[in-house]
Amino acid sequence: MDQTLKKTILGYILETNTDETFMRRVKELRTSEGSAVYHTLFKLLAGIDIPQEKSDEHWEKALKHRQEMMQLLGRNIDLISALSDYLQTTTNFLNHPRLIEASYYENVFHETIHDKLTGLFNRPYFDEAYSQQISLAKRYNNDFAVLFLDIDNFKEINDTYGHLAGDETLRQVAEVINTQKRDSDVAARYGGEEFVLLLTQTDNVSGFIFAERIRKAIENLKVYYDDQCIKITISGGIASFPFNSKKPEELLQMADNAVYLSKGAGKNRISHFKEEKRRYLRVKIHQPILAKELDFSNSQTFAGTSKDICVGGILFENDTALPLGALIKVKVPVSDSPPVMLIGTVVRIESHENGRYDIGMTTSFKEMDKIATTEIGSILRSKNVS
Ligand code: GH3
Ligand code: MG
Ligand code: MG
Repeated sequence: MDQTLKKTILGYILETNTDETFMRRVKELRTSEGSAVYHTLFKLLAGIDIPQEKSDEHWEKALKHRQEMMQLLGRNIDLISALSDYLQTTTNFLNHPRLIEASYYENVFHETIHDKLTGLFNRPYFDEAYSQQISLAKRYNNDFAVLFLDIDNFKEINDTYGHLAGDETLRQVAEVINTQKRDSDVAARYGGEEFVLLLTQTDNVSGFIFAERIRKAIENLKVYYDDQCIKITISGGIASFPFNSKKPEELLQMADNAVYLSKGAGKNRISHFKEEKRRYLRVKIHQPILAKELDFSNSQTFAGTSKDICVGGILFENDTALPLGALIKVKVPVSDSPPVMLIGTVVRIESHENGRYDIGMTTSFKEMDKIATTEIGSILRSKNVS
């Protein structure tokens, strides 16, 4: 049997809510793919091999049979029941009714909701589970927490050990998450090196303790690949209902924002979502900036390109590597107003192939001068950033 066709039809079974939609879609498929469609359909739904040249005719007859049954009984008859009845009463094809090839259905269903590389749930499945959790929270006020995890410096792992080693690392991180979580929690791979967990019946304290346990387990994890031992860390953000918000639909974004707090604070940590003005600073401003180190007596000035102002601070590209921990002053030009001055600490340095560096610095409103705070506020208002 044509495996692609089989998958497509099984996809329709999973996706469509009504028999009518399903029938319309297979009819469209018949137009584009030819007579193998109904042959495959019979094979899938009933496990029987109807000769391909006869399958169109039998499909039409089965649909007619369904209409007649509905008229006779005065109620709706689902497609599977009608098909089964047709095959048993009108043809001699079906001796042992078997409505669907269960194992195949399970395989496809598994692929539809799981991430191939890690075996965790995929993002569409997570989104579905999350929206169900939102309904439960709204109806019964059920506690729950969302935990976002992002592997630290993962690009470096790929660059140092290769993409396959990176893949193996992702698999093992997923394995740690999977063994630590409870059965009722939903763990998914949300993006490349990002994972998300829906922790049911969990308040902010127990959520945090759980997140710390995962963080530590990953810190202790040794990934062996090609005789090399890879060590990694992970940063996380957590938000819980109703502690952080009475609106459960806000939690995912809050947990995501909290990851940036962890990154900005030096990585390898879990942060609770904090209502903080700084989180509104996440805005791309691809413009040149000037950075100046305050630590040294003859402070040098560097030219760089800003990449991102985010919760934890700002990230910019620079000609020179600035020392971790250095206190720096950064002048961010703003197109139609005076430059904004930010003061903060270097918390991240990454080298580029082009010989330049990505510098991440934290900033805090306390360290910023008043003018900077006001300026940034006005930029954000004008850009309508949320
Ligand atoms: P940070 O600590 O700030 O999170 O830095 P990072 O390097 O982890 O983050 P960044 O977003 O810069 O890089 C993520 C990297 O993850 C880049 C991408 O190549 C890698 N990646 C994404 N998906 C996969 C995958 O499926 N396999 C492998 N091996 N790498 C992946
Ligand atoms: Mg990431
Ligand atoms: Mg990362």
